[in-house]
Amino acid sequence: MVVDAGHGGHDSGATTRYGGKEKVLALDVAQRVDAKLRAAGFKTVMTRKGDYFVELNKRVRISNMQMNAIFVSIHFNYSPKRSVSGAEVYYISSVSKSIARNILNQLDALPGTASRGVRTANFRVLKKNQFPAVLVECGYLTNPGEGGRCASESYREMLASAIARGVIIQRHGNR
Ligand code: ZN
Repeated sequence: MVVDAGHGGHDSGATTRYGGKEKVLALDVAQRVDAKLRAAGFKTVMTRKGDYFVELNKRVRISNMQMNAIFVSIHFNYSPKRSVSGAEVYYISSVSKSIARNILNQLDALPGTASRGVRTANFRVLKKNQFPAVLVECGYLTNPGEGGRCASESYREMLASAIARGVIIQRHGNR
């Protein structure tokens, strides 16, 4: 399992007055996901563990060095329209699609979220990954309601639980 906290260091990602800095929120959720997956018996690697910059290519290299990994990248979203809200999970390879679905289904169950579905996009961390890889946009920091929720520790804990559950369901099968 590779847990990838988006952005870091000079790259703050999206920053809004409702949600704060994406790089901070992404690292916090990533650390929570990492802890939950370890507790569930997964071997995990984080691509960054603090507030520093990591090149996208390096994130992919870290992932491709693992055996049989699932790569989960964690981000928060930005839109010029404040009204836009909801989680999205991106994938490219067909093998990644069911993981994307499982994670999105879990996020959908959170209070106040209206998910925007699973989607494909040519994100470099997905394209160059040799293993199943998904990118989770946990919510829009530009939406006052959702941004405010994302800024709260209790909501980030729920986000992390949902993402971890999606991965665990994937590994153990939908039985
Ligand atoms: Zn991002």
